[in-house]
Amino acid sequence: TDPAFIRNFCIIAHIDHGKSTLADRMLQVTGIVADRDMRAQYLDRMDIERERGITIKSQAVRMPWEKDGETFALNMIDTPGHVDFTYEVSRSLAACEGAVLLVDAAQGIEAQTLANLYLALENDLEIIPVLNKIDLPAADPDKYAAELANLIGGSPDDVLRVSGKTGVGVDELLDRVVGRVPSPSGDEQAPARAMIFDSVYDSYRGVVTYVRMVDGSLRPRQKVQMMSTTATHELLEIGVSSPEPTPSKGLGVGEVGYLITGVKDVRQSRVGDTVTDSKTPARNALPGYTDPKPMVFSGLYPIDGADYTDLREALDKLKLSDAALAYEPETSVALGFGFRCGFLGLLHLEIVNERLQREFGLDLIATAPSVTYEVTTEDKKSVTVTNPSEFPEGKISSVSEPVVKVGIIAPKDYVGTIMELCQSRRGTLLGMEYLGEERVEIRYSMPLGEIVFDFFDHLKSRTQGYASLDYEPMGEQESDLVKVDILLQGDQVDAFSAIVHREKAYAYGVLMTERLKKLIPRQQFEVPVQAAIGSRIIARESIRAMRKDVLAKCYGGDISRKRKLLEKQKEGKKRMKMVGRVEVPQEAFIAALSGE
Ligand code: GDP
Ligand code: MG
Repeated sequence: TDPAFIRNFCIIAHIDHGKSTLADRMLQVTGIVADRDMRAQYLDRMDIERERGITIKSQAVRMPWEKDGETFALNMIDTPGHVDFTYEVSRSLAACEGAVLLVDAAQGIEAQTLANLYLALENDLEIIPVLNKIDLPAADPDKYAAELANLIGGSPDDVLRVSGKTGVGVDELLDRVVGRVPSPSGDEQAPARAMIFDSVYDSYRGVVTYVRMVDGSLRPRQKVQMMSTTATHELLEIGVSSPEPTPSKGLGVGEVGYLITGVKDVRQSRVGDTVTDSKTPARNALPGYTDPKPMVFSGLYPIDGADYTDLREALDKLKLSDAALAYEPETSVALGFGFRCGFLGLLHLEIVNERLQREFGLDLIATAPSVTYEVTTEDKKSVTVTNPSEFPEGKISSVSEPVVKVGIIAPKDYVGTIMELCQSRRGTLLGMEYLGEERVEIRYSMPLGEIVFDFFDHLKSRTQGYASLDYEPMGEQESDLVKVDILLQGDQVDAFSAIVHREKAYAYGVLMTERLKKLIPRQQFEVPVQAAIGSRIIARESIRAMRKDVLAKCYGGDISRKRKLLEKQKEGKKRMKMVGRVEVPQEAFIAALSGE
């Protein structure tokens, strides 16, 4: 296709403002999905996306569109809205020249509207402002068109009004995309350069690599080279998603499509790499993506130790389509062999954990999430700690923790309660601005460790769900942080160590000792459960000794009942973990960690 007739755009918005629904209507009005084949959120292919009603992976689709008698090829990329998946969004943006900025006409601008708009502006994209859901009785398009125009400049009349539900305005929107979004530019004669913006493992087809052609072209059977590794492969299939994979005769400048090389090893096709021709390779690779930095860490352990290798393979596969996932092996006294994994946030952790269980059939336990701390000891050694049990022993001179800039948008009546919450999480007010008459954007700097766990839940419940939240890294700060250990009869249980602010150490100690006291069965002897900072005990419970052994109950009882009890005890033993002399069923650890 002549690049003059190609338009590459994405849809960006706050979560739930209707991107996926609008994408559905586009598939329909362009005729690539017949009405009878239509189902809601057509492009959300993963079960977990459909159930939760959220988009996790970006999807690229090619659609034909006629305007003024010419046929254009529109490549549309639907993107996730949640803060944890910003990394997916920023990669999609790099493959586009334009962005449809969608805003719910009954809600107005929210925190991720701003975050995604700034990302699009950084990528020099043409922004097309659109109000969605104008069919809603509560929609107030005049008010929010003014709010949007105020934000991005221009006149409120330039803001399109559509409904992804009824389809109103979708034709005009596609015409506007053709009219406003620049066509891709690139050198047709130059050696091929294609940017890998996504890569997924498909059990039938092997690795499927999604690319945006920048220069030159690629054809089936051509030998290509991955520029970062210089590995060469033959292109077995090349095509476009429309929305089902459709083989084509090749991809030229500006086109978006997929490649299949028959590669099975997921590491061969790295997101951000450049694909070129192996005989006449391009001299310079395209600028890649900076690898995202994991913000939250947690240990993932198979409940059945025999699943360890399966877990490794599953992580390797997930990593291919989720570049933000990081992992390395670790071992724990309480939980055995597993992996320390890095995530962009808690939702990301939750999704990965759920995908491992569902798509790979693994039963897993995740340890309490932790952020990254820089610890300096008194002899001037500096250690990066992502697992609290690795906190250095001995005298510490300083600990620093990651800090984020938090943006919250909410109706003005909630300002007081929001500030109170932020203050209690060690936040520092940075500024406050009115977006319109009733809504305010409040900015705080806050330790990441204070917001990754339950901050959003608290924010939602204090504001009846009216507040939206976004955050971005803002560096590090020194804080008065300590490691709290949990001890069973004097032996440390590594999976329960936590790094917390000194003022919250006591509360954590009491919570965990009480929990473990309830969950760990009695032993032959009394077991003290303690929480300690270094050698100082800050909380203490004890599990009283068992009075009689388990068989005592059935003295005089019939023999088969005794045998059954013994069998049961043996089975239980398999899953027992020893902490010093104390036997703990793994379930107790799992329950304590999940707060059940
Ligand atoms: P996304 O998170 O931006 O992809 O949003 P979705 O497309 O998943 O939509 C979120 C919710 O809004 C769903 O319940 C949709 O049915 C609903 N929705 C989306 N577009 C419209 C619309 O134009 N009108 C109405 N009334 N509801 C809509
Ligand atoms: Mg969606």
